[in-house]
Formats: sequence, structure tokens, C-alpha cells
Amino acid sequence: MRESGTRRNFFTWTRNALAAAGVLSAAPGRGQSVPSHPTLASGEDYYDKLGVTKIVNAAGTYTMFTASIMPPSVQAAVASAAKHPVRLAELQKKSGEYIAKRLNCEAALVSAGAASALTLGTAACMTVGNKKAPELLPLDTAGLKNEVIVQKTHRYGYDHALKNCGIRFVEIETLEQYEAAFTDRTVMCHFFNAAEEGQISREDWIRVSHKHGVPCFNDAAADVPPISNLWKYTQMGFDLVTFSGGKGMRGPQNAGLLLGRKDLIEAAAWNNSPFDETVGRGMKVAKEQIVGMVAAVDWFLSQTDEGMQAEFRRRADRIVAQLRDIPTLTHQTFVPPVANQVPHLVIRYDQAKVRKSPLEVAEILRGGSPSIELNPSTGRKSGTAGLPSDENSIVVGVWMLEPGEDLIVGRRLREVLSKAVA
Ligand SMILES: *Cc1c(COP(=O)(O)O)cnc(C)c1O
Repeated sequence: MRESGTRRNFFTWTRNALAAAGVLSAAPGRGQSVPSHPTLASGEDYYDKLGVTKIVNAAGTYTMFTASIMPPSVQAAVASAAKHPVRLAELQKKSGEYIAKRLNCEAALVSAGAASALTLGTAACMTVGNKKAPELLPLDTAGLKNEVIVQKTHRYGYDHALKNCGIRFVEIETLEQYEAAFTDRTVMCHFFNAAEEGQISREDWIRVSHKHGVPCFNDAAADVPPISNLWKYTQMGFDLVTFSGGKGMRGPQNAGLLLGRKDLIEAAAWNNSPFDETVGRGMKVAKEQIVGMVAAVDWFLSQTDEGMQAEFRRRADRIVAQLRDIPTLTHQTFVPPVANQVPHLVIRYDQAKVRKSPLEVAEILRGGSPSIELNPSTGRKSGTAGLPSDENSIVVGVWMLEPGEDLIVGRRLREVLSKAVA
């Protein structure tokens, strides 16, 4: 008995494994249709082949949910770039020049995301004017300037991207302390654009760093829209600014922008792939992603803030329309102040009447079909990006939904919440 059970398990396993590998696809079950050949244009669906669950992204531009979907024009640019080899140096140079022109800054570089731009920009400040210096990072920095001044409240989860260069943070709080913090080893002043606290304004940050002849960097990774932020901070005087390519701009997720002063962008390039003895060698951006980032800049500049905001509000409204009959339910659309500055739908209800907590609802939606990810602030007090969330709120990030998915999210929420009515 035991043996045959084992064998049956083995056969079942084999059959499943073969089916998963596509080997048995010539014998589909009843009612199943198997495409004879995946079309060349769309390619084989490797998520299905690998058994990876596709999700509806009602969260936002979170890296753990692969952030954004490239618009069709960007997907097409990536696909067409994949068809031809080019000279990498020429592509890096011309893409940078094109982006700089479109974004009204001196120079630009496509990095492997904003975190990579933080590393390359820091390395640039440490090595500018010294082409032999890149190979000294991160350990042999005794002969280089390596102190980065930062407001205490601007320390954050991306500190490590700067530390990769072998820098040391010098924390300050007041303007007076800022003035006094400069030494002959100060190499950069770092600003976190979406920091919720901090006494020193952007203008003062720039003024004081320039008085001491030290470049300043603004991390604005998640801070578009508004579109004009793409030139606002460089024009304000920041020497370096970064934006994530795969967040609001909907470029390739492993791309980003480093914008700013020409000499620093040039130095950032020496610290980058394809140069071997550099901190950036592992931050390779392939031709497809470089082109995709350029196409994303074009796509993003073809949008309007009003158009995007109106579309996101319509999505929120369509979801709310599905929830009209849920007792005690209230809703608001909330626009965070700096990062992710787009309408988010926040839903609340009396849990004595609707007996499922927001965290339970999130779990049910995650486990359903299609699998839906709500904003991670759902049911949590410490919301991300300034969202006003708590144990009693569901947060729907509508901006990364694909067409029609607002209805799917609305209906699933209605199903789950109406079932929970006491
Ligand atoms: C997302 C983010 C980054 C990292 O961006 P990637 O493009 O994912 O590397 C850096 N800084 C801030 C403030 C961010 O929000």
C-alpha cells in the first residue's frame, strides 16, 4: 500500500513537473485551450512558465512589487533596442546629453536606479578631477575627502548607497551646526527631499554648501509628479539630483537618473560600468534600459500633471462607487506632500459592523484571484510616504493600476467587505 502510494505520488509529481515544464501541453485537460505557438511578438509568458503569480498593483511604486509597468511606448523602445548592438560609450554619452537637454540641466547619466545614482554621485564628489581615485573606493580613502554632512532627520534607508563609497556621515541639526561642520575633508552635503522633518531649508542647504565650495546632492527619487520637479531642484542649485526611473516616470525598474553639474556627471561616469576598478561596476545598465529610460523621459514629459491627477481621481471614484452599500464606510482621497504626490484612496469603516480588519482584507485580496496587493500602509499606523493610515484604514494606491483594474479592485473589496457585514 505504502509503496503504491509513493509511486502514485511519484507519477503525479512527474506529471505536474512535466506539465509545468510545458512538455505535456499537447494534452490539455477538457475545456483548456493551449496556444499552439506563442506569438513571436508577445513572446512566451515566462511568469506562467515559472509559476510566478501576476499581481494587481494597488500598492504603488514599491520595489518589492516590481514598482511600475512601462507604458507601451517605453516597452516598444526597450524591445527595439534589444535588436541591435551599439557602442556602449556612445549610447551612454548621447542618452545623457538628450536627457540633460530635455530636463534643462547641465548633464545627465542613466544609472541603475536612484540608489545607484546615490553611490555614483557620492563617488563623483570624492573623485572629481582625479581619474586615479575611483579605484581607491571604498577602503583606501585616506587621501580623499570622505565626510558627508547630513541633517540628522535626513538619515534614511538609503544611507548605505552612500556608505558604499567609504564615506562617513557628519550629522547636524541646526543651521549653526551646519556652518560649523565643514572641514577640509568635507566632500558632499546630502539632502533627502521627502524628509518629513529637518530645520534647514533646501535654499539654506545649497547656500551654505556653496559658500564652502562643497557640492550638494538632493535625493528626490520618489518625487515625481509633479513633472516640473525634474528640473526644479537642479535649477534651484543642487549640484546633483536623482530620480528613480522605475517609480513615477515608469521607466525600467533598474534605471534611474543622475542629473547635475557637468564635471560631476563626468566623474560619476568614471565610477560606473563598464570600468572595472570602480564601485559602480556592478551597477551595469544595459542598452535596453538606457533606451527605456530615455523613452520614459519622453513619455513622462508628454503627460500633464492635471491629466495624471484627474485619471487617478477617476480610478479612486470608480472604486468608491463599488463600495456605496457597505455600512459605515467612509473614504477620502489623500495626496502625500512630497513623495508619491498622487491621490491615494483611504477607506475606513466601523469594524463592529464590518467584521474584517484592514490587514485581514489585505490578506484575503492577496490570496484571491487575481491576487491584489493593497498599499502596505493598510492597517498600519506608521504609513509610508506621509500617508494618514492606521489600524482602521485601507489604503489603495491607484496610480500603478493598469486600465480596468480599478474595477477589479473595487469589486473584490465589495465582495470581501459585504460578506463581513455583521
Ligand atoms: C526609491 C528610493 C530610492 C531608490 O530608488 P531605486 O530606483 O529603487 O534605486 C532612493 N531614495 C529614495 C528616497 C527612494 O524613495
